[in-house]
Amino acid sequence: MSRAPTLKAKASILFPMPLPEPFDYAVPDGMELRVGDHVRAPLGQRSSRGVVWALSSDDGSRNLKSVESVYDAPPLSEAMIEFVNWSARYLVQWPGIILRMVLRSEDSLLPSPTELRFEAAAERPTRMTEARERVLRAVLEQGPGSAAELARLAGVTPGVVTGLAKAGGLTRIERPADPPFDPPDPDGPGVALVPQQQDAADQIRRMINAGGFQAALLDGVTGSGKTEVYFDAIAHALRQDSDAQILVLLPEIALTRAVTARFMERFRAEPALWHSDQGPKERRRIWREVNENRARIVIGARSALFLPFQNLRLIIVDEEHDATYKQGDGLHYQARDLAVVRARASRAPVILASATPSIESLANARAGRYAYIQLPDRIGKAVLPDVATIDLREHRPQRGLWLSDPLVEAMAETLGRGEQVLLYLNRRGYAPLVLCRDCGHRMKSPEVDAYLTEHRYTRRLICHLTGFSMPRPDKCPECGAIDSLTSVGPGVERVAEEAKARFPEAKVEILSSDTAHSAEKLLALIDRMERGEIDILVGTQIAAKGHNFLNLTLIGVVDADLGLAGGDPRAGERTYQTLVQVAGRAGRADRPGRALLQTHDPEHDAIAALVAGDRDRFMEAETMAREALGLPPYGRLAAIIISAKDPSQADAVAKDWARNAPDADGIKIWGPAEPRYGMVRGWHRRRLLVRADRDVDLSAWLWAWKKNMKPVSSVRVTIDIEPYSFV
Ligand code: ADP
Repeated sequence: MSRAPTLKAKASILFPMPLPEPFDYAVPDGMELRVGDHVRAPLGQRSSRGVVWALSSDDGSRNLKSVESVYDAPPLSEAMIEFVNWSARYLVQWPGIILRMVLRSEDSLLPSPTELRFEAAAERPTRMTEARERVLRAVLEQGPGSAAELARLAGVTPGVVTGLAKAGGLTRIERPADPPFDPPDPDGPGVALVPQQQDAADQIRRMINAGGFQAALLDGVTGSGKTEVYFDAIAHALRQDSDAQILVLLPEIALTRAVTARFMERFRAEPALWHSDQGPKERRRIWREVNENRARIVIGARSALFLPFQNLRLIIVDEEHDATYKQGDGLHYQARDLAVVRARASRAPVILASATPSIESLANARAGRYAYIQLPDRIGKAVLPDVATIDLREHRPQRGLWLSDPLVEAMAETLGRGEQVLLYLNRRGYAPLVLCRDCGHRMKSPEVDAYLTEHRYTRRLICHLTGFSMPRPDKCPECGAIDSLTSVGPGVERVAEEAKARFPEAKVEILSSDTAHSAEKLLALIDRMERGEIDILVGTQIAAKGHNFLNLTLIGVVDADLGLAGGDPRAGERTYQTLVQVAGRAGRADRPGRALLQTHDPEHDAIAALVAGDRDRFMEAETMAREALGLPPYGRLAAIIISAKDPSQADAVAKDWARNAPDADGIKIWGPAEPRYGMVRGWHRRRLLVRADRDVDLSAWLWAWKKNMKPVSSVRVTIDIEPYSFV
């Protein structure tokens, strides 16, 4: 007997899709729903997964479809829903697009699958074969394993393993495929904080005790013990609330096993490590464990912001100035800014830590919006290296060479003392340009207006924007001349070649995303550098971050001018930050280090301030320049990028947007203009740039604009709030 259900409640369900708003459904009798519950409901012809965004009573005036089912998993927290709504409004995106960042695999909502493993039984079966013996030996040596693992170890088929189990030689054990994380112990072994650290830690403890949202900028030179200070904060948060969850954001590249090991030692439990290298199984595990409030300390790259924390009590953003916190494709967002939003929604403190804070965060600290906590001194004897310039106009290396005489001399001295050298150049590959000596033809990427970079190891020409690659040709594709192609400018491979030629006895290695393309490779190189097995390391910005090379005492910056030019308002700041980071790699132990910057422009503010060790002077000058121009944080920027396969269509739509901008005081629109890379992968791009005064609600204004515009099929429109890329 079935009876028609009486419908009383109505659920608004948000789907993880680009839809403008949640849709209403009837809640069938007997189904208990909470806001935040994960459900399935019919959408078009299909059943789709979504989240209950709101509940209300149903007056029955509309014939609503019913919710189909509800997952037996904790609902998203109210704070999470608030975060999604706020971010969507701020980023001028439909909330479903943000929700898509939150909901990863559906499997995370189901209990962990179990896996079958085999361990040695107490007794040996009567009938043993040679193959079975090998399996038994494998179990005794390696411990329990799955049939496939044991079979591989023993060099037999999995059938032998299961056969042995049937015969009583192995016992079957079932365990979750996604094992839970152990709770962290706040009282694990730590250092005794020095007075400046203790002051900083006390301030943060008071923020945690106060409860509620607060932001702080932890500004401390490299090696001043910031990490130990935020370890103390994490421990304190865990002691205050035994169910507390803590999120530590790090730039992707810093997420190494070395970092995990430091957390494991301090908190005596494995932290959840969330980054783009993790396979789907580990992601499923972490998502479920975070959602169930069992993963308590999460260390992650920017997308960890979207994990479904239930009780987030503290957020740390380490290296808060790092430009990689800005996600530049797909959903454009600045993870440091959204971390502050996430903390506010969770009524929890957030700590932004850096040795070279961004101008944005310094301005917030100065204006009193963030607490300002400083660690001016290094721990122990280590001191910041001496920084000096080498004027390339005076000490010009020979044609085709990149290391000046003073730098080579300094390298010789350093190597002579048995110490290590880091040569820094933020350019991958061998040479940034290949051209024909005969006809002047430059090797260009076919899909974008960019030159191809030569890579010697692979003997290929590669486009760093699109990934296009081709073998290096023997003759000029334009004029056909043989052996006329020549490499122009330096990349790390070329500098390494020169270093090897100058110091044939030295062990030279390259650290770039090409030689360290996996976490494993990166770690192996860093290990070898730490063990002193490398004399000269030639590295891109990967080498600039976070490592502790105790025997490294000389940094040579091959081209300190790179990055000072160009239309990006943050270029000066970024160059400065990178140089400080690179310089901070030297002399971290008890040996003093020095940094030599090769430059054509030693008087440039950024370079001069670095030599003077006067960060505040540099920041002051940059800040005043930004204020005068009304650039962030003294004004707001947004880019609107219109792309189409047909350039005239891109032009037409971009002009249409420009014509239809709503009127407003305090807002200025530039463009449409063709960006430097006007065409990428066959899509022609046009850009409008909007600048608004600080007190203008730029997002609200952009929403009004967006709603004015009819979508045009085959044209993509991307809104980028606070763009970082101006190419
Ligand atoms: P930062 O994060 O500011 O670069 P860390 O916290 O990593 O600095 O500290 C730098 C080094 O000094 C690390 O090796 C750390 O273990 C050590 N250290 C930090 N604080 C102390 C302390 N109070 N006593 C002894 N060693 C410390």
